[in-house]
Amino acid sequence: ISQLRAVVYESNGNPASVLSVVTYPAPPKPTGSSVTVKHLLSPVNPSDINAVEGVYPHQPRARQLNVNGQERTLHIPGNEGLGEITDVGEGVKGLSKGDWVVFGKGQSGTWSSGQILEEGDVIKVDRETGISAVNAATLVVNPTTAYNMLSEFVDLRPGDWVVQNGANSAVGQAVITLAKLRGLNTINLIRKRDEFSDVEKYLKSLGATYVITYDDLEDKFISGRVKEWTGGKDIRLLLNCVGGKSTTRMLRLAGKNAHVVTYGAMAKEALSFPPSVFIFNNLTAHGFWQTEWYKQKSPQERARVTAELVKYMATGKFKEPIHEIVKIDGTLSDEEATEIVRG
Ligand code: NDP
Repeated sequence: ISQLRAVVYESNGNPASVLSVVTYPAPPKPTGSSVTVKHLLSPVNPSDINAVEGVYPHQPRARQLNVNGQERTLHIPGNEGLGEITDVGEGVKGLSKGDWVVFGKGQSGTWSSGQILEEGDVIKVDRETGISAVNAATLVVNPTTAYNMLSEFVDLRPGDWVVQNGANSAVGQAVITLAKLRGLNTINLIRKRDEFSDVEKYLKSLGATYVITYDDLEDKFISGRVKEWTGGKDIRLLLNCVGGKSTTRMLRLAGKNAHVVTYGAMAKEALSFPPSVFIFNNLTAHGFWQTEWYKQKSPQERARVTAELVKYMATGKFKEPIHEIVKIDGTLSDEEATEIVRG
């Protein structure tokens, strides 16, 4: 390939205005321990949008790209994805042409057709396992976040209960799936909608125990109903990716010595905690950031979690997230491609 293509931005702003598509010369063959990676699938996660907007702490680095003979300083977003190795340097030991890889470092610029990277910056995903491309492309962020939030804060045993909001999100679906695999029960909160029963049915098909809406939390009998569901067992883990008033209400379901883990802020509203739950139930509040987890943990620990998730995915225990694949055809001009990207 002599040319590469990427979705880029020059300065932060509304993605629908600042994103464009550019074509630029591909770097020469990889040397030493570097590899050429062709990007097969490049997910769009909420944090990618926040990165383009400039409100996410981890930004894609500035790159010098030669676009139509002009040197430009541009950022290529894309935190995760699935790549295929198309060429390897003479010093590469553990990868060969045709291997599938995911990206070990955040903001690796996956919204592009490919790049040259160091062997150590990619993690091989065993294609022989039968894992699907969609599952592999979305492995590093959402399923890993769900897995870690279910294991890092509370020592949960089969039969224990977890409450989460944003339950129909990709992370929420992963929480439901992984909780079910561990024999945990989940109470799942979503926004009220016309097609509530369809979403409820789908989440239950993944393993959700109960699905209710934030409005249901307004019901003064909700605590009693939940106690009936749990048989009086204390709920010790609550997961929050929404914030605002409905989260405060959700926290009233926390049992003794519960932990609430906040990992997102979809409602873009402040988070407040009911003092009574803090005082009388000894609630502990944490934040979780998967990017930080990758920095803190050893390569062995990262590989262990990845391997466990790949096993679930390859054996059909972990479904692909609901997704839509948008293709930018190579025959389109950069201008036409930009129109697609800006939606
Ligand atoms: P998805 O795009 O799959 O889902 C978004 C979810 O947010 C949906 O459930 C949607 O519900 C809900 N939502 C959107 N706007 C609002 C609102 N105003 N009030 C209530 N709910 C709302 O998201 P992901 O699973 O990819 O990510 C979910 C969250 O987790 C994001 O905030 C993301 O940044 C965060 N995240 C954090 C990580 C970390 O390491 N801390 C790692 C991965 C994700 P509806 O269907 O009703 O619109």
